[in-house]
Amino acid sequence: MMRRTASLLAVLAACAAVSCGAEKPTPSAPPATVYFTKDVSGQGVLKAYGKVKSGVTAPVAVKVHFGERGNTNYLRPEWVRPLVEQLKATLVETNVLYSGPRQRTESHIGLAKEHGFGFAPIDILDSEGDTTYACSTAHYTRVFAGDHTGRYHSFVILTHFKGHGLAGFGGAIKNVAMGLASRMGKRAMHADYVPDYDTARCVRCGICVRQCPAGAISLDPLRIDTRKCIGCGQCLKACPAGAFEAGRDRVDAGLFDQRLVEYAKVLADGNRFVYVSVLANISPDCDCAGRARKPFVRDIGVLASTDIVAIDQAALDLVNKAHHCADAFAQESGVSGDGQLEYAERLGMGSRKYTLVDLDGGR
Ligand code: SF4
Ligand code: SF4
Repeated sequence: MMRRTASLLAVLAACAAVSCGAEKPTPSAPPATVYFTKDVSGQGVLKAYGKVKSGVTAPVAVKVHFGERGNTNYLRPEWVRPLVEQLKATLVETNVLYSGPRQRTESHIGLAKEHGFGFAPIDILDSEGDTTYACSTAHYTRVFAGDHTGRYHSFVILTHFKGHGLAGFGGAIKNVAMGLASRMGKRAMHADYVPDYDTARCVRCGICVRQCPAGAISLDPLRIDTRKCIGCGQCLKACPAGAFEAGRDRVDAGLFDQRLVEYAKVLADGNRFVYVSVLANISPDCDCAGRARKPFVRDIGVLASTDIVAIDQAALDLVNKAHHCADAFAQESGVSGDGQLEYAERLGMGSRKYTLVDLDGGR
């Protein structure tokens, strides 16, 4: 395991506001620029990327999500391929905590190819272990990413914008935080979410056992193996008898958001990232879900920015507008994404104020 210190001073300085308490005022970051095209295609992705490409140098990694087996909403390979080929880039991902093909490197790459991503080299960044980023945030003194992260000079964080069961939405912040973290890092972000359970309520239907992605639940009597549980919350949603409830260790509803954002901040400060997000096939569920719900709004377009907060805010605003409501993901799945944006801006990661630049010439 190597220790990564390249931007330690910057991270410590930026994280100091968090460590010292929440009383500090929100930094007033200047409005950022977010570029927009309605063109959901490989050419649309290239056009948006072209506005943020300054400073991107080889070797380049394009961070995508290959989609869980059974999921149909993930980024279409034809939207990704022109960018990757133009940059002679490598497609990168990390292995996941829960059981399934994306848990192990070989089967993860196999699934990526099944889903049409065999047109470029694929690097599972944590296939050979972790790299550690020292930091001093409210929740961490170090974060864990895939050891191969250091192979690349620049990353295009190419995100499929959609819902997420714990964070409200999965955008660029989540694609960096959960997407680049090694399994140890993912576990650190999910910590404290092991549900409590009431054996007396259990009617032994077995639904939770079948749906638990980590194989953590056993019956007779009902029991969760806390060493296996990844805190995904699936059992809380699945149990028809209400036998599960949020764990007593849960400090507040925003804790997961804070952990997610802090991971994204440390990783963004330690690497060169630009952001492109595709707003299409927008389900309330993450691409990690094998049986994700169908899209609930029309396809919207492609965004690009160098500001991770602004691009997620712009994406959320466009989804809210398309859904004709103030908080689309809260309405669709009961979880608002506002918390991660508020905390990210408070950490100085970027601005929730932005100027949207239309690349289609008013088409
Ligand atoms: S889903 Fe609920 S009722 Fe069914 S086996 Fe699991 S805990 Fe028991
Ligand atoms: S939260 Fe529930 S479904 Fe998710 S891993 Fe833990 S026990 Fe399994």
